[in-house]
Amino acid sequence: MQAFTKAREAFQDLNRRLLREEARKLGERLRDGKITPAQFQAGMEKELKSSVVAAYRFEVKHKLTDGDLARVNGVLERQGAYLHGFVKAVGETPPGDWIPARAELYAGAAREAQTEGRFEAADDTAEWLWSGPDGPESCEECLDLIGTTRTVAEWRDSGDRPGGMTCGSNCRCELG
Ligand SMILES: [Zn+2]
Repeated sequence: MQAFTKAREAFQDLNRRLLREEARKLGERLRDGKITPAQFQAGMEKELKSSVVAAYRFEVKHKLTDGDLARVNGVLERQGAYLHGFVKAVGETPPGDWIPARAELYAGAAREAQTEGRFEAADDTAEWLWSGPDGPESCEECLDLIGTTRTVAEWRDSGDRPGGMTCGSNCRCELG
């Protein structure tokens, strides 16, 4: 069990790191004018999809059902809406390093999908605590949640996920 937990964390870390790297590269190409905003958006959607599906699938360990696909699509739709706003901002703000930096935050989506998968694999009535650094490294949304205990079903319905809050991939919170 311990070995599996370690293997799982290693896989999820790697998956997030790869998404972060791909997002940064796409952001740099957009900053440098090598790709258009539309190409950036299409590239990000592709990277997000493969990473989010992998993160989710690794947790549930079964063939994805319609319900699973709906949850995965929920994560992708939420990210797609942010992405749309981001691409719009790129058109209105001078290009700079803020573009790859902000693109990297999308790696939080893989963490969000991992948590979705963990909810599905867990008992609905299990009580999970949200923990994290109680300091400036946490965003306001996370600070409000740190120390909160809810059942798995309540967390799932709340929509609150480490990686899915304002701090994105910078989130250092844990839920479990
Ligand atoms: Zn956080």
